Amino acid sequence: MIPPHNGLGASAPLDLVDNHVHLQDEALTSGLEAVLDRSRAAGVRTWVCNGASEKDWPRVAEIAARQPGVIPCFGLHPWHIGSRSGQWLDQLAQWLESIPSAVGEIGLDRWIKPRDEAAQEEVFRAQLRLARERHLPVMIHCVRAWDWLLEVLRKEPPPAEGMLLHAYSGPVEIIEPLVQWQARFSFAGTLLHDHNLRLRETLERIPKDRLLLETDSPDLLPPPDYRVVEPVWFQGKARNEPANLRAIQAGVAAWLKMSETELAGLLWRNHLAFLGSFHPGNPAARAA
Ligand SMILES: [Zn+2]
Repeated sequence: MIPPHNGLGASAPLDLVDNHVHLQDEALTSGLEAVLDRSRAAGVRTWVCNGASEKDWPRVAEIAARQPGVIPCFGLHPWHIGSRSGQWLDQLAQWLESIPSAVGEIGLDRWIKPRDEAAQEEVFRAQLRLARERHLPVMIHCVRAWDWLLEVLRKEPPPAEGMLLHAYSGPVEIIEPLVQWQARFSFAGTLLHDHNLRLRETLERIPKDRLLLETDSPDLLPPPDYRVVEPVWFQGKARNEPANLRAIQAGVAAWLKMSETELAGLLWRNHLAFLGSFHPGNPAARAA
């Protein structure tokens, strides 16, 4: 069954989905209504909003309760494990009990310094177990840790409901094993930078039914030719916005030699196959 698209038209060809975004980030919250209005005007009507820390979770839930089309996800990101409380896992389980959704953003990171790899792995595995027990998909962050990710997933498999690899940048060789684990590969606008040819070649190798796009706003600002909105500066950093997805998607369509309508249709079907049951308009969603 195709769930209704939040009362905004069932599957109009240019209903775009930002499959990974942080609307609760301070860089976006002060002007969130305007950010979402610009986003809707650009055709983006679904936002998969990832909580990354305990303090994020109530904010993500609140935004999703107020804004139609926002799918809330709850997880503890490897950058935020240092500030976790003793009750973090119980708290997370409670959020997922009241709002069944995807577990994210979670993952492994060998880029940040300093880092506690043992703690990262422990926290990541605990969240994979929770997702498996509750039959929920996961949203994965993986930076410079692809071998480590495969090693962990062999010991602690992802849920059968699948996983989204956000801002995918891994090698071509691991696409196939990840596909076997029901992976979805989500690309951000940074793949359109001239120097990112390798990533665009990787994109071509992703099975078409596993492809998704995202902005990762307020991070990962796309190159100037692929922006809908001039970036606002926040605390010394140029902010990305979900409206930019429209231009990113046009760039990806051109690279894949598809029309924008064709790509939007494909990505909408891929999104629904993965997260359709969590759309607020779907009667199966939110049934705790
Ligand atoms: Zn993220």
